[in-house]
Order: sequence, then structure tokens, then C-alpha cells
Amino acid sequence: MLQEQQEEKWINDIRKYCKSLNISINDLCKIVTDLKVAPMIRGKAFEFSTYSRLKQVLPEEKWIVTKPMMNAQTGTHDIDIKLEHKDTGKTISIECKLAKKGDFKVLKQNKSGLGQKGDYLIPVKCMRSRTTKSNDKALAAAQKLNVTLDAFITHSDQYRTSSFHVVATSIGNAFYKTGEDEEGNISYIFKPTYEEMEFIKRLNPPNFTEEFIQEFVYNKVSFASSSDIVVSHKTGIICGRKKCLDKSNCGFIPNYPVINFGNVQNLELTEVPYPKNKWVEIEKCEAFFDELLLQV
Ligand SMILES: [Zn+2]
Repeated sequence: MLQEQQEEKWINDIRKYCKSLNISINDLCKIVTDLKVAPMIRGKAFEFSTYSRLKQVLPEEKWIVTKPMMNAQTGTHDIDIKLEHKDTGKTISIECKLAKKGDFKVLKQNKSGLGQKGDYLIPVKCMRSRTTKSNDKALAAAQKLNVTLDAFITHSDQYRTSSFHVVATSIGNAFYKTGEDEEGNISYIFKPTYEEMEFIKRLNPPNFTEEFIQEFVYNKVSFASSSDIVVSHKTGIICGRKKCLDKSNCGFIPNYPVINFGNVQNLELTEVPYPKNKWVEIEKCEAFFDELLLQV
């Protein structure tokens, strides 16, 4: 289909959809940029863009990449992106999460389970949006996970390694702030600080215009296995929940797992920073998924 025809098609689709739900098309822009609505749309958009990129990156003779539809019965969808390995029939589930907004940081002191002084960190927002409210449901969920009710309630918005195999993230959102436009509307804007820009430059973008940089950092996508970001003796990651009774081994994934780029100041100027902990960039993800097959 020609680009113009495609554009005409989606404009018509949106027009029809809005009409069917009495959404005034004149307000659509204000609606989708609303601070309550935008995070959900951006999260969904990231699922689709990662799905397309994985289809490009992974050889189709080895992997089937799909985006499963929502489960109509429960109203939930269990898997953002599904990979199926053709030879073994094994499947890998991928959960898509954006980096935490505006939280790029350089570690001021050594922190156990996190990194060393001077390390460049980008936290990823990784929490369940639906939490279990009723006690009966919480008890059933706790039993299913083989943890006590108290432990479950303490970590009620947190994932376990059994929730998904892999989390995918883009670092772009770390450089967004909440800001006001000329008309006084508050929305998310891409606005790296000086220090953040210095870091982005080290990632070697081929062009420095703001529009280009914004897309460049969005496309910096990394993956981690859920077993590498969970609180456990093996990972050394510590639980931050005050009420947690097993802070070094509770088996829950923190709300903000961290990508650690190491001490970028200590790198040679020609060296491009890459994640030093277990996060793997999308360009190298085929080997990562091959290795993961041995564990699933
Ligand atoms: Zn814990």
C-alpha cells in the first residue's frame, strides 16, 4: 500500500472508532496527551515497536515472533511479545517496560546490589499495574507462588521470575521531564540535562539534532532475563521493601531494576558505554535468546 493510502486508511479507522465511542475527534490530541492517558499509550507503542524490531533482528527461519491478542475472558493479556523457537518449540515471553521517567543518575556512593560510586544508572519501571485487592484472591495468589500471605501483600505490585522470561526496555524515557508547553498544557517532553546529553553523546549518535537524538535513545533497547533482575543471593540484588523479611532472597523483582553502564568517565573516549550488568542490547539479542533457551 502506498504511504498516502495507508495514511488515509488509519485516519479513517480512527475517525470511525472515535465516532463509535462518542469521542470528539477535535479533543483527541488533548486526550492522548493527557498525563493520565499518555503513559499507557506510550507503553503500548513500545510493545509494537519492539515487536517490529525483533521481527527484523531475529532470523525468521529460527524464530517466530508474535504479539498475542488480549485474553477476552480475563481482560488481561499475559504476554506482550512471544518468541517461539522453531527447532525446539520452546517459547519465551517478553514483557515491555519503559525506563523510569527522568531518572538517569550517576551513583554517588557504592551501593550493595546496585553498583559502585561513579556508575551510570538507568532504572526501568517494572511493576504490575493491577494489584490483587481482595484478601481471598491475595491468599490464592500467594499459595500459587508458594509465599506467605504477608510476603505477598508486602510485594503486591511486584513481579516474580515466573511472571515473564524477559523484560525489554528502551532508555529513552529516562531523558523525559514533565513540562508545560506554550499554551500551558502539561505533558511529557524530551529534555535531557547537560549531564544526560554528555552521556548520550558517548553512545555515539551519528547526528546531534534534538529530533534525531530523541529517536536514537528511544531505539536503545535492551533485554534482561527475569532471573537476572530478581532479588536473590545469586544476583546480589537487595529488596527495598521495609516490611520484607528476606531482603536478600525474597524472589520478587524490584519496582525499578537498574541498567548499569559502569563508570563512563573511566572509559576511553573512543569506547561506547554498554550495560555492565546482565542487560543485553537488541543488536546482540540473538545470542542472548539462544542462551536463554537452555533455561526455559
Ligand atoms: Zn522483598
